[in-house]
Amino acid sequence: MIQKLKYIQLHLGYCLYNIGILVMLSCTFHPSTVPKNKYTPFISEISLKFQNKDLQIDSLRMINLNTKIPCLYVDLRYAGNNNFMHSAMYPYHFNIAYARKPVAEALKKVQQTLNAKGLSLKIWDAYRPFAVTGAFWNKVHDEKYVANPALGSNHNRGVAVDVTVVDIHNGIPLDMGTDFDNFTDSAHSNYQQFSANILANRKLLRDIMVINGFQPLPTEWWHFSWPNSAAFPVLNIPLKQMKKIAH
Ligand SMILES: [Zn+2]
Repeated sequence: MIQKLKYIQLHLGYCLYNIGILVMLSCTFHPSTVPKNKYTPFISEISLKFQNKDLQIDSLRMINLNTKIPCLYVDLRYAGNNNFMHSAMYPYHFNIAYARKPVAEALKKVQQTLNAKGLSLKIWDAYRPFAVTGAFWNKVHDEKYVANPALGSNHNRGVAVDVTVVDIHNGIPLDMGTDFDNFTDSAHSNYQQFSANILANRKLLRDIMVINGFQPLPTEWWHFSWPNSAAFPVLNIPLKQMKKIAH
């Protein structure tokens, strides 16, 4: 019996030793040690342990756009059923948008320019937890429509926003020709078969965003991202938790 106990003790010790080595290995894990493949960013960056620490670095801070940008309209479409998934992917009716500090500062300038014209930005989506991108993928599984979670998305990095322009007084949107998450050619930036008014509205949004440092996406007139997105790690912090962390 005593021998058996000793064996269990030894075996347990050996297991703990192995776990210790695994933990050490995972802590010293570095992307450059992993052969590059399409899953590399996913493997190397979804290290939830270190996320909160990263967020204390000034340029990586997550900012509450609702409170930092005056007169901002926010309608997080994934917090309800009015989206291509036809279901709430965020906590129902959650309506606070977050982005990294450089993105928030640039959006503030965009907003100032629009406000001077009697207009305002409206945010449909900004920071999106990685798990939600995974959920999109599980449901749709088509790269034409959703980002492959193996790569993470710029929304997961807190550096992409989906926006439109509205009247500052009543929130009525300018006519952009299509709604958010329209996956047809008519959502493409170079699609020309619209009225002059719609084309001018799209140009207004695109020009102001680009002047303030954002990069447009050719296939989605509403999507803009911040350059050098790889410098911003993919995050998987739920929105309700982000509310406590963001500045
Ligand atoms: Zn987007």
